[in-house]
Amino acid sequence: GRKLLMIPGPIEFEPEVLRVLGAQTASHVAPNFIATFGNCIRSMRKIWQTKNGQPFIISGSGTLAMDMAASNLIEQGDNALVISTGYFGDRYKDILERYGANVTILNVVPGKTIEIDRVNDALKKKKYKLLTFTHVDTSTGVLVNPKPIAELAKKYNVLSILDGVCSVAGEEIKQEEWGLDIVLTASQKAIGVPPGLALLVVSKKAMSVWEQRKTLVSNYYCDWQNWLPIMKAYEEGKPSYFGTPPVNLIFALEKSLEIIVTEGIQKRVKRHQTIAAAFRRSIQSIGLKLMPISNNICANTLSAIYYPEDVNGGEFCAKMAANDIIVAGGLLPELKTIYFRVGHMGSVSTKDIVATLSAIENALKFVNYKFEFGISLKTFQEEIYKTT
Ligand code: PMP
Repeated sequence: GRKLLMIPGPIEFEPEVLRVLGAQTASHVAPNFIATFGNCIRSMRKIWQTKNGQPFIISGSGTLAMDMAASNLIEQGDNALVISTGYFGDRYKDILERYGANVTILNVVPGKTIEIDRVNDALKKKKYKLLTFTHVDTSTGVLVNPKPIAELAKKYNVLSILDGVCSVAGEEIKQEEWGLDIVLTASQKAIGVPPGLALLVVSKKAMSVWEQRKTLVSNYYCDWQNWLPIMKAYEEGKPSYFGTPPVNLIFALEKSLEIIVTEGIQKRVKRHQTIAAAFRRSIQSIGLKLMPISNNICANTLSAIYYPEDVNGGEFCAKMAANDIIVAGGLLPELKTIYFRVGHMGSVSTKDIVATLSAIENALKFVNYKFEFGISLKTFQEEIYKTT
């Protein structure tokens, strides 16, 4: 049958978005495409919750968004602080070092969040140009609270970069109010558009730090010098060209951002929270353990779940797929075989979770795990009834 994609990106996309994607390709200087691009820029400001931020919409994946932020802000020898809660924090260290940054990394045990005192101590000890952190760590399912970190960055006059690839349009973000300098993401997660777009919103302060660079940006494709005039032109309704934009994806982005704005960002975040909380309780009712050490640091866009002891992950995931539900294996190299991940973001609804829980129970029973058959479905039913 038709499989349900329950991984933490790419996700299931709205049929309307996919329909737009399949339409005839327009010229990248056609008036209707220029209008669409402008609409995307304006919708991004609403979703990121900023009035003055500069959006960038670029062809590429989330890693390109990380690369663009790093390459435009880092000059040889700059100090950068990386707060790493898992796989993608470690990747940010590699990216920053590639551009000549001196990186200090703050690590945590998988499943924990960062203690704010450690960030404060690090900022007190040394002067940094910027810090990076991951809002939702896709490798552990941990949700980091961005507000206190952004406040500390501001206090020490350090630029703050939030990797929101697994959070934007699913978790609460108030870029301007919280003082985040860059919030970056990609299209294939809670934004709800097939893979291929890197999306960033950059504060006035970060743009002025970039303007004051003494050296050229060493990544030609990423250089804001090339892209800023393009973003401005599209917003002003004028044709322009640097590199051909992914026209169809941008029409799809306009549609998906419109769906998000119409739902309302607060309502959308609430929906993610409600579904995630009910899913977690259901998973725990089977006796499974989540990777985050407590429920209040669990992401609302995905869950990382340990297999019960003696359960073979490969066998479990294969059985899930045979039941038409695709989940993701573990991502942290050292723990890969002992946990799996379920995405629940974007268009996700209770019917997707019911189907997923049913398949999880079926697969667990198949691999001889002992539990009360049906308990997670009953738990989910009760949790959802309470909130509707
Ligand atoms: N950061 C986070 C938090 C992510 O989840 C991902 C993708 N899983 C990335 C960065 C990298 O994005 P991409 O795979 O689109 O390059």
